[in-house]
Amino acid sequence: MSPSHQLPKNYDIEEVERRWQNTWRDEDNYFDPASKNPRFIIDTPPPYPTGNFHIGNALNWCYIDFLARYKRMRGYNVMFPQGWDCHGLPTEVKVEETFGITKNDVPREKFREMCRDLTLGNIEKMRTTMRRLGFSTDWSHEYITMLPDYYKKTQASFLQMLKAGDIYQSEHPVNFCTRCETAIAFAEVNYAPRTTKLNYFDFDGVEIATTRPELLAACVAVAVHPEDDRYHGMKGKRLTVPIFGHDVPIIEDVAVDPEFGSGAVMICTFGDKTDVYWWKQHGLDLRKAIDRQGIMTATAAPYEGMTSEACREAILTDMEKAGILKRQEELEQRVGTCWRCKTPIEILSERQWFVRVHQDDILDAARRISWTPEHMFARMENWTNSMEWDWCISRQRIFATPIPVWFCTACGEMVLPAEEDLPIDPTVDMPKNPCPKCGGSDFTGETDVLDTWMDSSISALHVTGWDGTDAKPPYFPAQIRPQGHDIIRTWAFYTILRAKALAGGHPWDEILVNGMVLGEDGFKMSKSRDNIISPEEIVGQYGADALRQWGAGGAATGSDIMFNWNDVVAASRFQTKLWNIFRFVMGHLEKGADPAAPVTELTDRWLLVRLSETVAEVTAAMEGYQFDRALRAIREFAWNTLADDYIEVAKGRLYADDSTRASACSALRTTMDVLCRLLAPIIPHFAEECYHNLTGRSVHKEAWPDFSYADDEARRHGDLLVKTVAELRRYKHDKGMALNAPLGHVMIYAPEPVDDAGDTGRALNADSRWSTGTPQLEEVVSGVDFNMAVIGPTLRKQARGFMQAVEALPPELLKNPPAIVTVDGEEIPVPADSFTPKVAYRVAGEEVDVLTLGDVVVTIGHQS
Ligand SMILES: [Zn+2]
Ligand SMILES: [Zn+2]
Repeated sequence: MSPSHQLPKNYDIEEVERRWQNTWRDEDNYFDPASKNPRFIIDTPPPYPTGNFHIGNALNWCYIDFLARYKRMRGYNVMFPQGWDCHGLPTEVKVEETFGITKNDVPREKFREMCRDLTLGNIEKMRTTMRRLGFSTDWSHEYITMLPDYYKKTQASFLQMLKAGDIYQSEHPVNFCTRCETAIAFAEVNYAPRTTKLNYFDFDGVEIATTRPELLAACVAVAVHPEDDRYHGMKGKRLTVPIFGHDVPIIEDVAVDPEFGSGAVMICTFGDKTDVYWWKQHGLDLRKAIDRQGIMTATAAPYEGMTSEACREAILTDMEKAGILKRQEELEQRVGTCWRCKTPIEILSERQWFVRVHQDDILDAARRISWTPEHMFARMENWTNSMEWDWCISRQRIFATPIPVWFCTACGEMVLPAEEDLPIDPTVDMPKNPCPKCGGSDFTGETDVLDTWMDSSISALHVTGWDGTDAKPPYFPAQIRPQGHDIIRTWAFYTILRAKALAGGHPWDEILVNGMVLGEDGFKMSKSRDNIISPEEIVGQYGADALRQWGAGGAATGSDIMFNWNDVVAASRFQTKLWNIFRFVMGHLEKGADPAAPVTELTDRWLLVRLSETVAEVTAAMEGYQFDRALRAIREFAWNTLADDYIEVAKGRLYADDSTRASACSALRTTMDVLCRLLAPIIPHFAEECYHNLTGRSVHKEAWPDFSYADDEARRHGDLLVKTVAELRRYKHDKGMALNAPLGHVMIYAPEPVDDAGDTGRALNADSRWSTGTPQLEEVVSGVDFNMAVIGPTLRKQARGFMQAVEALPPELLKNPPAIVTVDGEEIPVPADSFTPKVAYRVAGEEVDVLTLGDVVVTIGHQS
């Protein structure tokens, strides 16, 4: 090898990556509103600013960055914005923990400020990680949902949907976390298994089994199946609720499972979703036994003031004392818990705000979007079809977008701000005009705030230039939404809903769904499993480009990826290999060669044919978001075709001093140029370092390679050539020869004439020639191999004599053995399979070895 003297031997990842990150300018990645080029607007996920840009984020952003860089190279006017979805419980809880307070200990505005400060610090930490990973973010399109510029749009979107009748206020059962003291949406309920007790007790003569005796005070009916003979004729009768003494009716409903317990169930407001269904179907009373803090209400007297757990124990004790508790059984059940704090949720009937879910509209819009991978659409479809309740958007918290509504104290009229006055906080600001209904001037501001998804579900509108009015955003719809499959039922669902409601259409042309990153043990990364890998850890050891290669190659887009250090090591090794190739090539280019010299020689033309095929493959893969396929094609080309095949065969010519050297230099220059461009989206630092050394320009300002080179003959002959050289190298190896040892006289007989410019001979250190036709081979028997396993047992003492007799046979008889040989004057039969003749070949009297590779025959003259 003759590596470049101007390039360091080792590729210093940290130095190179830092240097380019300091050289690149943010402005180069800005979306250009004046550009006439086709737009490519990415509805980037706004992460929650935890301060920790985790590896799952990193995978998601790798995909986005591959796309953004690729599309820029394809001439698109790309917008790769960065949002921050700030509001919500985790930050409130963090502030509460950090300062040892609860949200009610400080004024609302003070609490918000503490949350904002924490968030800004976290955003800065995450930005640092994102920059270190080399993402080509458009920082001029950064948005922060907690800041007035953004949340005034959230408020405007609320008002528009309210006026259109798509948002309403109602008392309705909702999922409620009594720890967080807020309503939550169905999408925020997790289900966890738990073992509980099923308690059988006597309910005024009917046996009832329940897991929630503490809800007895909230019992409003007992239900049985209409065809359950045990309860025939009981419909409409009334029963007295034990302990509490109020009357409830017996109702019939086909949804009751007669196999469960005694077949009679008590309906409480509310034990679960089915209770809500029955309550609605049968127009039952509402009895609220548990309040927002999970404390028993006056309805539950004498248990008022107890927690629901304490109440459960007290009621069971009292049932036992009264002799009505029959028995208890263990029961496995799945219980809904708060996504944030894991507290079992209660279903409480509350005055809340809701967004109407128009299932057909959402599905219609979702169908107009192209889903990658395609099967992810089914998740959206199933979730949408499963929606039974509208989306509860009010939260009883503080750090969130305020609901911009007042109520007139005198007449209760709802009063809305003018859109130009947004943003407002109705608990601080007051309406500018008196009540339009009664002229009153005393108002109560809504203290409920909006679900965080109300902020993030207008991201697509925001990035497409929405100004908060009812005018359609100028760039709507965006081209693509990249996101994880874990938030299809939330972020994707809500965004489609809101885009349809506010802009009348689907929010993006395409959605690209990425998988999750699992720990090395195959489990979801978690503190308790101690299997968390941070992007910083990977970058610190192997650099950003290695992490990015891991992201590209880890799995098919949409599949979960199990993290594996080996993949990162392999990525880093590939860069080392590439760097060595690049230094070798640069070393030869530096020695001088006409850059405009034509590519004339077979091996060089073959390289360009393979390069052209690689460009087509990588382009098709990038168009289909198959980053693993793109990376695989690049690696195979660089490692196998370029390094192992081409350079090994053609390098001899690089030391020559004629036009065949210029042809090789031209082919290599083109190859490195194209290869850098193919690598640019995936490993931007490495590609930049090489390309800059090669051309003095930035690869990130170049176009995607539009390289195609067709030469069928070069493809065929070159394939033959590299295959033959590889086979002869194996031959040398098998013979125990050094790879550079002289191989003598080699004749290659191929179906067509091949002009290899002497590459084969130089690569093998042989006097080699290509020829058409077939060799005039003369087969000679040069000896014999005995099969002792047959001869020994069959001939015993005669074995030695037999072998001597066989060796003495004339060669033609060895090929067609006689049935009998004479040993010591005695004729003995030749046992089957007792020997095989050793065959050698000669061409024109010279003894040769013969290799057959498909329709190519190679003869290798023995060395004299
Ligand atoms: Zn909670
Ligand atoms: Zn009024």
